[in-house]
Amino acid sequence: SILVVGSSNTDMVIKSAKFPDPGETLLGGTFFMFPGGKGANQAVAAARLGGDVTFIAKLGNDIFGQQALQQFQKEGIHTDFILTDPQHPSGVALITVDAKGENTIVVAQGSNGTLTAEDLTQAEKEFERTDTVLLQLEIPIPTVVRAAELAAKAGKKVILNPAPATTLPETIFKDLYLITPNRSEAETLTGLSVRDASAISAVSKWFRDKGVQKVVITLGSEGAYVHDERGGRYIAAPRVQAVDTTAAGDVFNGALAVALAEGSSLDEAVQFANRAAALSVTRMGAQSSAPYRHELTTLL
Ligand code: ADP
Repeated sequence: SILVVGSSNTDMVIKSAKFPDPGETLLGGTFFMFPGGKGANQAVAAARLGGDVTFIAKLGNDIFGQQALQQFQKEGIHTDFILTDPQHPSGVALITVDAKGENTIVVAQGSNGTLTAEDLTQAEKEFERTDTVLLQLEIPIPTVVRAAELAAKAGKKVILNPAPATTLPETIFKDLYLITPNRSEAETLTGLSVRDASAISAVSKWFRDKGVQKVVITLGSEGAYVHDERGGRYIAAPRVQAVDTTAAGDVFNGALAVALAEGSSLDEAVQFANRAAALSVTRMGAQSSAPYRHELTTLL
C-alpha cells in the first residue's frame, strides 16, 4: 500500500494563447475548475493505477474542502487521516496554460500550511502498515521531514518529489529511498545546471552523496534519467501530442509509487510512470487527467 502525505488544492485554470507579461491583462480562453494539489493529484493517480492509497492532508472547513473529500472517497482513497482546519480556507491554485500546453501556477496554500509534524502522530501506525510513502513540498517542510523520519524508522521506502523546489534540511536526505525532481527542481536544489548528460550525472551524484539511495530526474517529453548504484541511464517516454502538462509530474510520481509498491524494479517503475504521465499530458486538468490502469495498455 501507499501512504501519501501532502497538499490538496482547487485548481482554477484559464487557457491562453500566451502567458501575460508583468502588468499585462490578457483575454484568455475557457475557464476550468479542477481538484488539484500535488499530494491529492499523486494520491488520485496512484489509486487509479491500482494502488491501495491512504492520504494524509488538511482541508479547510469550506465547499472546496468538502468537494475534495468527496472526490477522494469516490476514487477509493482511504480518508480516515484527513484533517480539517476550521481557521483557514482550503488551498487554491491559479493556473495559466498556454498554446503549447506549458503552464504557470500560483498557489495560496491555506489549510495545507497548517498540517503540522504533530498532526502525523495520529497516523503513526499507518507508517508501519504501508509499503511506500510518497511526499512533496506543498506542506510545511518540518512535516515532510517528520513523515520521512517516521517512514524510514519503520523501514519503508520514501519517495520525495521535491516540488515546488525549496531549500531542504540536510537531515532529510538519508531518509530518502528516491528523489524525483524535474529539471528546474534539480537545478534549484543542487545549484548545478542540468544541461547535458555529464551535468545530469553530476546532479544525481550530488543527491546520492547526501544519502539519497536512488535518483530519478524527469525530463518532460524526453522521459526520465535514472541514477542508482548501477550508474545512470535515460528511459524515454512515449511520443504524444501534449495538450496540458499540468500534473504530469504528479501522475509520474503516483505511478512510480504504485509500481515500486508492487515490487517492480526501478527501471520498470520508471517505464510505467513515463507511460502514465505521457497519457496524462494528452488531456486537460490535474486529477482529471490521471489515467486508469486499463488505459495504459492502449499506449505503446
Ligand atoms: P513536471 O510536470 O513536474 O514539470 P516533467 O515536465 O519532467 O515534470 O514531466 C514529468 C513526466 O511526464 C516526464 O518524465 C514524462 O514521463 C511525462 N511527460 C511530460 N511531458 C511530456 C510530453 N510532452 N510527452 C510525453 N511525456 C511527457
